Amino acid sequence: MLGEDPIVVIGGGAAGFFAALSCKEHHPEARVILVEKSKKPLAKVKISGGGRCNVTHACFSPRELISNYPRGSKELLGPFHQFGPQETVDWFAKRGVLLKTEEDGRMFPITDSSETILNCFFGEADKVGIELLLQEGIDHIEKQGERFSLSLHSGKQIQASSLIFATGSSFQGWEMLRSLGHTITPPVPSLFTYPIPTSPLLSLSGIAVEDVEVSFSKGKKVRGPLLLTHWGFSGPAVLKLSAFEARNLHALNYHTTVFLNWAPSYKLAMLEEKLFSLKKHHPQATLATHCPISLPKNLWRALLLHWEISFARKVGTLPDKIFRKIAARLIQDPYQIEGKTTYKQEFVTCGGVALSEVDFQTMESRLIPQLYFAGEVLDIDGVTGGFNFQNAWTTGWIAGQIKNIV
Ligand SMILES: Cc1cc2nc3c(=O)[nH]c(=O)nc-3n(C[C@H](O)[C@H](O)[C@H](O)COP(=O)(O)OP(=O)(O)OC[C@H]3O[C@@H](n4cnc5c(N)ncnc54)[C@H](O)[C@@H]3O)c2cc1C
Repeated sequence: MLGEDPIVVIGGGAAGFFAALSCKEHHPEARVILVEKSKKPLAKVKISGGGRCNVTHACFSPRELISNYPRGSKELLGPFHQFGPQETVDWFAKRGVLLKTEEDGRMFPITDSSETILNCFFGEADKVGIELLLQEGIDHIEKQGERFSLSLHSGKQIQASSLIFATGSSFQGWEMLRSLGHTITPPVPSLFTYPIPTSPLLSLSGIAVEDVEVSFSKGKKVRGPLLLTHWGFSGPAVLKLSAFEARNLHALNYHTTVFLNWAPSYKLAMLEEKLFSLKKHHPQATLATHCPISLPKNLWRALLLHWEISFARKVGTLPDKIFRKIAARLIQDPYQIEGKTTYKQEFVTCGGVALSEVDFQTMESRLIPQLYFAGEVLDIDGVTGGFNFQNAWTTGWIAGQIKNIV
């Protein structure tokens, strides 16, 4: 049985829209109000994926999928069984939005335009009768018995039988939740690239290396493509490591040493052997034209210069210690990070509502009945590739079911 008061969704981003639509799908008779403080809802969806919107990732095994979430992986396992990437693809297809998969697994609308997603959400919201309150922020919330009393920025008050909190990484949203008794894990940035002002590789901006392993002195090692930029290092491996090490890097004020392994498929001894074999069989050759692994030629030369190794001398004349040094630096090459920069302005926040205070079967608060959560407001974030939107769809879908309806 539904009470007379509406269900209110706070926040008109990806999670809020999906939660509101799920709510109308599961409870068509409910009055659903979506409150968005800005003029333009779905603002991040619009600019996402460089304007193409990377909707999800073609990773259909929940167990594999969760490895892409530095925070929230354990908690999302059950929810992904309820609503994962396949359900996302089907949901959009049912509404005429077809997705395509790129080589690296990222999924986009076939139109290559985020407008397709916006139009779908606006059209659906209109069709099912979601009431949109735009330019109306919620400033204050009080629980009064079984209902919520909400104070809007304009001074109006509304009552709600249930609340879905989808305010993303808004400090105001977290403050309201804190005042309701929830714990907010301190927010810090995730998904950023590393400025290396002293890097000798800055002039090689634009070069991509397919397979590099990046790590800090301790913690996770991440393997994948690396992109050299005019400010330092970027690319999937760097972004992924920034997400997994977001808290540690914040604690170090983004000043530390990153280690690159240019040859992650090789052991040190194998590299040394390759170099000694070059010396033995091609003593007339120079290092300039002979790299023991597959690296772009200008990068290889820049590395040798940086390691102060002459590449013009014949290898037969070089002492063995030079070959040992090259092998060692290929496996562990340190660079000093000075700060952080965003990549295509794409970032997420690590931190948010403490996950132990949420029931992930329903997305309901364990502290306050009838209060639900969806999206980045939670202490959940993923690496790049469509994983952050998948979190928004999954948690929005479940929260919108309002399983504990009164
Ligand atoms: C440039 C950029 C590109 C991105 N590209 C991708 C991508 O391609 N794929 C991907 O998976 N992820 C991407 N992300 C991450 C993704 O956009 C976010 O994880 C996702 O938008 C989070 O959705 P959300 O609904 O939880 O929060 P948000 O999208 O931040 O929405 C929260 C909404 O709540 C509103 N709000 C806040 N407080 C109040 C209040 N008190 N009252 C009323 N309304 C309020 C805000 O105005 C906002 O509209 C990108 C992020 C950025 C910044």
